[in-house]
This record gives sequence, C-alpha cells and structure tokens, in this order.
Amino acid sequence: MPATPLAETASLPLIRRLWREHLVHERRRFFLAMLFTLGLAASTAIYPIIIQQAFDLFTAGRTEALVWLPLVIILATSLRAAFMYLQQVNLHGAALGTIEHIQNGLFGALTRADYATIAAEAPARQAMRFTTDAAAIREAIARSLNGAGDALTIVGLVASMLWLDWQLALMAALLYPIAAWPIAVIGKRVRRAARGMQDRAGDTSALLNESFAAARVVRTYRLEAQEEGRARQAFAALRESLLRIVRARARVDPILEVLGGLTVALVLLVVGWRVTTGQGTIGEFTGFVAAVLIAARPVRALGSLNAALQEGLAGLNRVFGVMDTPRRVTDALAAQPLPAGRGALRFEGVGFHYPGSEIPAIERLDFVAEPGQTVALVGPSGAGKSTAIALLPRLHDATAGRILLDGADVREVTLASLRDAIAFVGQEAVIFDDTALANIACGRPGATRAEVEEAARAAQAHAFLEALPQGYDTVLGPGGGRLSGGQRQRVSLARALLRDPRVLLLDEATSALDAENEAAVQEALARLRQGRTTLVIAHRLATVQNADRIVVVDQGRDVEQGTHAELMAAGGLYARLVRTQAFTAE
Ligand code: ADP
Repeated sequence: MPATPLAETASLPLIRRLWREHLVHERRRFFLAMLFTLGLAASTAIYPIIIQQAFDLFTAGRTEALVWLPLVIILATSLRAAFMYLQQVNLHGAALGTIEHIQNGLFGALTRADYATIAAEAPARQAMRFTTDAAAIREAIARSLNGAGDALTIVGLVASMLWLDWQLALMAALLYPIAAWPIAVIGKRVRRAARGMQDRAGDTSALLNESFAAARVVRTYRLEAQEEGRARQAFAALRESLLRIVRARARVDPILEVLGGLTVALVLLVVGWRVTTGQGTIGEFTGFVAAVLIAARPVRALGSLNAALQEGLAGLNRVFGVMDTPRRVTDALAAQPLPAGRGALRFEGVGFHYPGSEIPAIERLDFVAEPGQTVALVGPSGAGKSTAIALLPRLHDATAGRILLDGADVREVTLASLRDAIAFVGQEAVIFDDTALANIACGRPGATRAEVEEAARAAQAHAFLEALPQGYDTVLGPGGGRLSGGQRQRVSLARALLRDPRVLLLDEATSALDAENEAAVQEALARLRQGRTTLVIAHRLATVQNADRIVVVDQGRDVEQGTHAELMAAGGLYARLVRTQAFTAE
C-alpha cells in the first residue's frame, strides 16, 4: 500500500511516541543539553541587571565600578559562550542520534515489510523518508530544544524585568501572548503545506531516478526534450509547494516585529515619563529597554518554532505511517518449521488477486511437481507466470486455494524455514555493491570461504572471480558493474547453489548471452537443477523440451499440461506457441 495518504495525527501523541521510542535513547545528551540551556538562559537574563547596575553606579559617581564591572561583564560573556557551545553540541548530538535511531527503525520496518508494500512505491520515494523527512524531523527536534532554551531565557528576562520594575514587566509580558493565536493558525497551514511539499519532493526524486536509470533509452529514442518537460513540471510543482510554506512562514516574523515595536514604544513612553517625574533611575530605564530588546530574538525564534515543529511532525507522521503499515504475510500463530522432504510441490486450485485490480492475475492453477522434477511454466506474457512463482516464497499470499510444499501449506509453516528452502534466480542477476565473496556467501549465511569457492566452481564462476584484482575480495561495484552480463548470472547461480535449496525458482532470461557465456550459464544451471524441484518460467525451447512437465498458462489458468511430445500431439496453445517460435532456440 502506498503510505502517503495518511490521516493527520494529533501532535501530542506523535511527540510522545517520538520520545518513547527514539528520543529516549539519547536522554543523557538530551538532559545535558537542557542543563546547559538553563545555564545559557540564566546568563542571558542577567545582562539587563548588569547594565542597570553599571548605569546607576556611574550616575551615583561610584568610579571604582570602572574596575570590577568590565571584569564581571567578561566573566558573564565567557560563561555564556561556554554554555552556548556545550548546549549546541549536546543538542545537535541528541537530535542526530535520534534521527539515526529513526532511520534504523524505518529501514528495519521497510526491509521486513510485505513485498507488496515495497513494490507499491518508487524506490526513490522510499529513500526520501531517510533524507528529506529525516532532515525535517531533525530540524524540528533541534529547534524544539533551542525553543525550550528561548522560553527559559524569556522567563529569566521577565524575572529581570520584574526585579527592575514589576508593573512595567507585567505590561510587556501581557503583550506577547497575544501573538500566540496567529502563530498557531500559521503553524497548521505550514504543516499542511509541508505534507504537500514532501509528496512533491518524492515525485521529483522518483522522476530523476527513473530518468537517469533510463539514460540509454532516453538517448537512443531521443527523449531528451520529453524528459526535460517532465522534469520542468516536477521542479515547478516542487517550487510551488515550497513557496506555499515560505509564504505561511514569512507571516510570523512581521507579526512579531510589530508586536515588539509596540512593546518597546510603550515601555519607552511609560519609563520615560517615570524617569522625568523622578520615580525611576536611568539605570532601570536602560536595563529595562535592554531586557525588552534582548527578549526580541528568543521571542521571534519561539514564534517561528511552531512552523518548524509542524514540518517535522508532518515528516514524523509519514515515517511512523510506514513503520505502522501492517504486515499481512507473517507467520501463522501455530507455524511449524517446514517438514523434512525432497521438494514435493503442489498447487491446488490456487488463485490470486492483486489488491485493487479488477480481474484476478491467477484464476485457478492446479499442478504438481514431484521431487527433483522440472516443471516449465509457459504462456503468453501477462498470463500470470511470474505471479505464480512469487506465491511460493509468499511474496504474496494466494487468495484462493493452497500451495503445498512437502505436504505442508506454505502459509502454515514459518516464513524463515520456507524461504530457506527456496532459491530464486531471475532474468536480471542481482549483484550487491560488495565483495564477490559476500555476494555469493549471502546465499547461505555462515558459509565458509571454501564452500563459497566450491559453489563458484560449480557455477563456472571461479576462474574469472579469481582473476579479479583482489580475487574474491574484489568489490563488484554498484549493480556488479565490474562483471559482464553472463558473469553476473554465474555469480547469482553460485549464490543459489550455495543455498542448496529444495526448490529452485527460475525466471529464464529472454535474450541469449554471447555463445561462450551462454554455454557456461547453461552448464551452471543444469548443475543447479540437478536433484531439486525446479519451477521455471521458460523461454528457451531446450528448457521446455527437457522439462518433466509443461504447464501452459493462459489468462491465469492452466489450460494444458504434459510433456513436450504430448502437448505437440494435442495441437493446442502450446503447439501454436512452438510453431510461432515463441521460444528461443538457443
Ligand atoms: P507473466 O509473468 O505471465 O507475464 P504476470 O504474473 O507478470 O504475468 O502478470 C499477470 C497479471 O497480473 C497481468 O495481467 C498483470 O497485468 C497483472 N499484474 C502483475 N503485477 C501486478 C501488480 N503489482 N499489481 C497489479 N496487477 C499486476
């Protein structure tokens, strides 16, 4: 399921959950940050009082203050500088640590999510949650912690003001809460805009990914102009959605500016009047105005905090939404390990409906593969062959009928034991950007180097792997860029061989490799199939001719079954496919 159209969750439960599940791991740094924040706030709040003292001492002609006041000021600022540094380091440390924790949790959730959940969204969109959303959350956490400091600073300053002139202080303090209401309204708007922006950013990165991945086609089909058009639209939509946030955010500062101006003007008026009538000192006056001016920055930061907080909450909502996507393919309550056996496979009245699609991808499939047999699935494209082999390792669960492996319904055994018994080799060999050794060894965790080499030998991969600059320890590059297509195939076959599965699922490559590679791959495949049950989506005539059983699938049904000779004699769909050369000769 796409995880984007999420209901908006209230802020408080989101924050509570953030604390409980993630922030709590950084609580030491978090509390240190709060402690230094407290120090920072206190050392800021003392400034107006120092200023007042200085002015009053000078007006009173106490010149000895000239000696110690500068020292006090240097001490106060140095203290404040130290607090500033320690607060920032701990604060961002806590925020970054929290994000890392979220990223790990999110990655775990996504790699363990149902295959259907992952397949439903472009990889770039998934990746975005780790970057854009994470950045918004980090910003919100850091800003919130800073905001707590700002709030404390304001409290401290208000205390200073109270000490200097309590009546005036009450007046100034009353003005600021008036700003709270427009700021709350703006915050809501920013959160909505942020959600839109994150969706647009996802669209954009998905498009970029797709376009660069298709670089070859784009050039040969001369699709440059079309791609530019698509990109231009995406960038424009992104700009528009960002602009919406900027517009909402931009309202906050002016509102606070005007309120700040009002406060200073009022204070000037009242204090000025008092000083001229002899009710207050110049020191009090200067100290008070200094307090109001110093308060302007933290007040403004607090005002824009809500907007950042809302952006972070929007990101948090998306991240938690993905983490909470329920899994459907899970172990049954009383799941047992797959019983021992040699790979007897039976599809019984199997049907499958992709969620949200009108017609079933598989209407009804019945066939049997005895241990060690090779069953070839053939049929027109879209018939349901890939879907059928995806049902065995439970990438999806059949919606009708059942699949039995060695007598057990695949939905009633543990997923781990089921998948350990299966190897899949697809048309495109999957190579990770890791060493050759790791690429093969991942077929069976715990395999020794000798076992890996043995598998590579059997898969005709040993010679070229050994010839690599660092042999088996050579990193194969993104997508296995260091190897040719046929070599990649053989590495993936070695991985499957090492796994030593009961059942091999094979999606045969449609296009032939060069003759030499093809021969090596076929030999490796033959060895891999030896003695195990193989379910193959066949494209080569040789494969179907040698299959123990051919199941002809059309529109989600097994329309014919038998050996090559039987089906040719029957003269049905299979015979037609062979006659129209639907299979490659090589
Ligand atoms: P084959 O492998 O025989 O070419 P598939 O198993 O890929 O056929 O597809 C069978 C049917 O299911 C097709 O009609 C296809 O459009 C549909 N289908 C495949 N994948 C999905 C999906 N993820 N969501 C919805 N429908 C799908």
